[in-house]
Amino acid sequence: MLLPSFQYHEPKSLNEAIGLLGEMGGGASILAGGTDLLVNMKKGKLSPKNIVCLSRVEELKGVKRDHGLMSIGPCVTAADLKDREEVKSDFSALAEGAGLLGSPLIRNLATIGGNIVTARPAADLAPPLMVYGARVVLKKTEGERTLPLEEFFLGPGQTSLETGEILCSIVLDSPPSFSGGGYVKLGLRKSLEISLVNVAAFLSLDGPSGPVRDARIVLGAVAPKPMRSSSAEETLIGGEPDERLFQIAAEKAAGDARPINDFRGSAEYRREMVKVLTKKALVKAYEEAKLREWRRWK
Ligand SMILES: Cc1cc2nc3c(=O)[nH]c(=O)nc-3n(C[C@H](O)[C@H](O)[C@H](O)COP(=O)(O)OP(=O)(O)OC[C@H]3O[C@@H](n4cnc5c(N)ncnc54)[C@H](O)[C@@H]3O)c2cc1C
Repeated sequence: MLLPSFQYHEPKSLNEAIGLLGEMGGGASILAGGTDLLVNMKKGKLSPKNIVCLSRVEELKGVKRDHGLMSIGPCVTAADLKDREEVKSDFSALAEGAGLLGSPLIRNLATIGGNIVTARPAADLAPPLMVYGARVVLKKTEGERTLPLEEFFLGPGQTSLETGEILCSIVLDSPPSFSGGGYVKLGLRKSLEISLVNVAAFLSLDGPSGPVRDARIVLGAVAPKPMRSSSAEETLIGGEPDERLFQIAAEKAAGDARPINDFRGSAEYRREMVKVLTKKALVKAYEEAKLREWRRWK
């Protein structure tokens, strides 16, 4: 399978990239790691006339921490996210998701920006980012806007990204003390596998043993886009964090899920797995919330 022909552009700054996209209107595609775009082009699903490659735009790489915020460049790869100390310590569920994405070869290429913009319901980075309340910063020639990530996703493969817009950064608030996250993925294989179900959880506690001050649960691959489980979150907030509470929340999450039957698994099996994975993600989040406090006291 050969790639269709196209004009290749390699801007060296964000302004140049935005300018090029502005001039080309809808006839251009952005290229980051290429693990989605090039595959779709080879399959003949996409044939953009112009490709704007971001590999030389330094402003879109790297992770910064400033004034209680972490800002992640869209060209940071899954391999980098998985290994970065500041991501592992403050946003462990994101590091876990990155470590479970594809294979080492794919992780070396796949970027966080590409993973978000592709908007696959089963993507590995969206649920962890959503539980940490991530926002996306989008820029085009006319200006800049910031959106909560959960509002960015519209449906499978659909986002609110406008023509000529670039995802420029992903912003996260530094997590409070007594808080922790967890991510669990279920596939049919152990690697190179798109999730059958995935779940991310975040818990923030009033103290080392509770009660739960804030909770977020995001379910992947069981709806047209990654979804918050509001019933599970409501159950958790104000409760004492223990096995019994986590079990009730897991059952609520299974009730909220909207899975479908397909060749990889039945809706019934997926719903059952939401229950199992939610409980596991909550246990991980709680273990980390306790550990974070222990680290702070040291
Ligand atoms: C074998 C294989 C296994 C995979 N396994 C997994 C898996 O386990 N989990 C998973 O979640 N995904 C998986 N994927 C999908 C893919 O690797 C990820 O979605 C990856 O993160 C996409 O990033 P990329 O940099 O390669 O994106 P690209 O292919 O470069 O781009 C993807 C889309 O995003 C757009 N885009 C990229 N960056 C920007 C930006 N900054 N602003 C605006 N638009 C942008 C592009 O125009 C394109 O439409 C797999 C893919 C393959 C081929």
